[in-house]
Amino acid sequence: MYGTMMNYPMTLDQILEHSYKIHGDKRVYTQLPDGEIHCYRFADLYNRVYSLVSSLREVGIQKGDRVATYAVNAYQHLELFYAIPLVGGIIHPLNIRFSPSQLVQIINHAEDKMIFVDNDLMDEYSKIENETSQIPTVWIDKCSESQQPENNNERLNYENFMNNSCETSKVLHNENWGLALCYTSGTSGDPRGVIYTHRSMFLHTLAANQADVFGITEKDVVMPIVPMFHALGWGIPYASMFAGADLVLIGKNVDNIIDLISKTGVTIAAGVPTVWTRILPELINKKEEISSLKRIIVGGEAIAPVHIETFEKELGIEIRHAWGMTEMSPTGTFCNLSRSHQSLPEKKQWTIKSMQGRPIPGVQIRIVDENDIELSWDGVSMGEVQVRSHWTSETYYKNGSHNKDLTSDGWLRTGDMATINPEGYLNIVDRKKAIIRSGGESISSLALEKTIISHPSIIDVAVIGIADETWGERPVAILVLNEPVDEISLTMYEYLINVFPKFWVPDKFFVVEEIPKNSVGKTDKNALRQIVTNCL
Ligand code: AMP
Repeated sequence: MYGTMMNYPMTLDQILEHSYKIHGDKRVYTQLPDGEIHCYRFADLYNRVYSLVSSLREVGIQKGDRVATYAVNAYQHLELFYAIPLVGGIIHPLNIRFSPSQLVQIINHAEDKMIFVDNDLMDEYSKIENETSQIPTVWIDKCSESQQPENNNERLNYENFMNNSCETSKVLHNENWGLALCYTSGTSGDPRGVIYTHRSMFLHTLAANQADVFGITEKDVVMPIVPMFHALGWGIPYASMFAGADLVLIGKNVDNIIDLISKTGVTIAAGVPTVWTRILPELINKKEEISSLKRIIVGGEAIAPVHIETFEKELGIEIRHAWGMTEMSPTGTFCNLSRSHQSLPEKKQWTIKSMQGRPIPGVQIRIVDENDIELSWDGVSMGEVQVRSHWTSETYYKNGSHNKDLTSDGWLRTGDMATINPEGYLNIVDRKKAIIRSGGESISSLALEKTIISHPSIIDVAVIGIADETWGERPVAILVLNEPVDEISLTMYEYLINVFPKFWVPDKFFVVEEIPKNSVGKTDKNALRQIVTNCL
């Protein structure tokens, strides 16, 4: 017997409708290029979205059409996050840090029908303009309400494109239609695109807003530093608006974070750890200015216990460590201390908080050996993480139903190696390919990095494996120092030998000015390998 409950599609218009009807007076703030802050209400956004819907229809955008954006975090980008899927189209936010050739490859692969380009990024975009000239382009101007966008007859301007009539006819009825196309940030191999559906994003939004996940409430002011092109800004734009929280969008100038927090009263922010650790001394200096900030969500890369300790002890800001991937919309696990951890010594608590945490409700995880045999959750057995959820992709765009990363029983192989402890806390050891195999034993670059960064002279670190005739591979560490240190190799050796087995201690320590980061701000280990090879 079937149940008696209503069954209608979970589509994006319901998130927009709810935020408009229940939270219409809530605000979206955008930092403009001149430092001014643009501010309008959810109700204003709603009306503009439906004007855009009507304009997109008028130019012939139809169900399934991919429409690209090349834009920073800003209110127009947010409008497009709704308007494109509401005409049945698929928003394709381009990674603005990809190289020109990667961008052209991805635009061609996606077969984008139209593209919205941020005027702030005109210089960057001009490098590929010749190759995308056949794609109708709309230019997004950003200026204060008192200013008018520049009139350039050769270019179609966003405000002119937006039709003044406000059409509200709804056409969405299939929750399994595509909503957004996001490419993974991987730098090698063919482009791998994932298409989120209305249903997957709706469910991800509900899950993200639980208290132990993002925990966003109507009282919050949320600032995703994570770019909107990175897995739709981790779904935060939708989650915040559904919860009725004000949203703060940073524009192009990411150096102005403290001022923006202070002016808008941000309570929750999110981004990769580097964004935060880079400005940690400044945050400490200007502690009073960021007193509204109560929580930072970090993910995309591991965070070290020493950094969690500084944030929580010195700044009173809670760090929530998340793990996921573009294929997972992106949220998989979140780390919160459980009730049983409350009485543990602080040091132990920081260590737990630097784990990737437990699967959020709706996500299933397991670790397996090389034969896909499930390993036990004993905190020691290490295997590849496999996941299943309603917001995990089953295949890749243009891959048909075939995906070699999917097991025969429908779990996604993530390529991450981890242990899981008896309480269900995931601890990522490394990417499968990054694990260092030395003399037949595994060495975790992440574990080494977490300890090295806790040394007071170190401000950034990366550990990679390099080929070795005797041992197969050996670890080397690349360091950024905050002060010159005599005999850094000896200092680090003495520091690490107390913590790790001797064979784990890196053979060489290189000092550099800066650790290279990839297009989403994570350590670029391929670039580091090149640097180390040149130094050897
Ligand atoms: P992306 O699809 O660009 O978001 O990259 C996903 C990958 O980033 C994952 O498969 C992990 O290797 C890595 N990753 C994401 N979050 C974390 C985390 N909290 N700790 C360690 N690695 C992470």
